Amino acid sequence: MSKSLQAIRGMNDILPEQTPLWRYFEGTVARLLDNYGYKQIRMPIVEFTELFKRSIGEVTDIVEKEMYTFEDRNGDSLTLRPEGTAACVRAVLEHGITGGGQVQKLWYIGPMFRHERPQKGRYRQFHQIGLEVFNLDGPDIDAELIIMTWRLWGELGIRDAVKLELNSLGTSESRGRYREALVEYLLAHHDKLDEDSQRRLKTNPLRVLDTKNADTQAVLVDAPKMADYLDDESRAHFEGLKARLDAVGIPYVLNPKLVRGLDYYSKTVFEWVTDRLGAQGTVCAGGRYDGLVEQMGGKPTAGVGFAMGIERLVLMLETLEQIPEEISRQVDVYLCAFGEQAELAGLALAERVRDQLPNLRLQVNAGAGSFKSQFKKADKSGALYALILGDDEMAQQVVGFKPLRGQGEQQSIAWDALAAHLATCVVQG
Ligand code: ATP
Ligand code: MG
Repeated sequence: MSKSLQAIRGMNDILPEQTPLWRYFEGTVARLLDNYGYKQIRMPIVEFTELFKRSIGEVTDIVEKEMYTFEDRNGDSLTLRPEGTAACVRAVLEHGITGGGQVQKLWYIGPMFRHERPQKGRYRQFHQIGLEVFNLDGPDIDAELIIMTWRLWGELGIRDAVKLELNSLGTSESRGRYREALVEYLLAHHDKLDEDSQRRLKTNPLRVLDTKNADTQAVLVDAPKMADYLDDESRAHFEGLKARLDAVGIPYVLNPKLVRGLDYYSKTVFEWVTDRLGAQGTVCAGGRYDGLVEQMGGKPTAGVGFAMGIERLVLMLETLEQIPEEISRQVDVYLCAFGEQAELAGLALAERVRDQLPNLRLQVNAGAGSFKSQFKKADKSGALYALILGDDEMAQQVVGFKPLRGQGEQQSIAWDALAAHLATCVVQG
């Protein structure tokens, strides 16, 4: 195929064989969020570039090197959203739905775009389910977010493969004091830092903490600890969160080096990580961002949220073979009809059955064909049962009912009794 007709590197088609698992995952999350009282919001995929610079921060990896930014025909600088929080905050402010302390518990789903090096679990167009809560400032809601994800991992059957890492970044004041102490310490060891960390030391010193470089990591062993700089309020908040996780029995690991890539976090930050996906181990990440709304021009508004990467979680389900059996079957019943009269009767019969069983996955053979070829298609469809309409069945106003998986003889069912019969033998999703 010529190059121009290929998809962009790092931007994937999700093929029909993959979509059932995606829909199962997305449906499971959506139901769970409904049950906890969260409401969906949908934002545009493109926003003014300025929005991301202001919210994510100028000296972050995302804004410095990962954004898809372009000029539109009016000369405005636009960017394909690299994440959802910025647009969500913009939307609630623009529509005034967090004004006067109104609580909002929101979630969204959709594609995000980052110009990163594509590899397993890391793509240029990827998908997130994200969640943001506004105007609740206590640790109880931080805990609820984590408890919900814990329940999700349980429902998906991947709980044993993920680990919760937790940290508190304090308020911006206490983080400022810590930053000063850290910079002072790191400057004294400047020569032993890797190049990237030397650069970060100037632009975003906290990010030095999550360096992968072994020499820099060695320097960090004796560096000042964030926990020693936490203000009382943040400390109490963090204790409140931990007490709630303990009460529910959710295990966690304190990771003082967890700082997250974005500028806007304060107090709680967390990541759900796994060792089953190689280097791309974070499946869900988030935290509190009490200063962000104000920074974006709103009134002071507490905020907390997280986002999970759908590709990575779908990969987890595949890797751990946690794929429910029923999602691989997309057809319950396949109707074969032989001859024009039978085809017409079959169509009408199928519609009558659909009227009575709206959830039945009934496929009517298209393209006619011999007994053998229709039967082959019925089998290949994965259907549990084939319905057969030939001359004999037409004459008697019945349909042949043949189990395709496992035992059972073919039987004849009267047209009028078909829906009732199917209702007893097909479990409807
Ligand atoms: P990472 O450290 O893996 O780059 P991040 O801190 O940049 O992640 P966030 O901005 O917190 O990621 O996004 C939340 C989640 O979205 C991540 O935990 C991950 O599951 C997913 N994610 C982020 N970037 C990508 C990507 N390029 N491809 C696939 N999934 C991604
Ligand atoms: Mg990243």
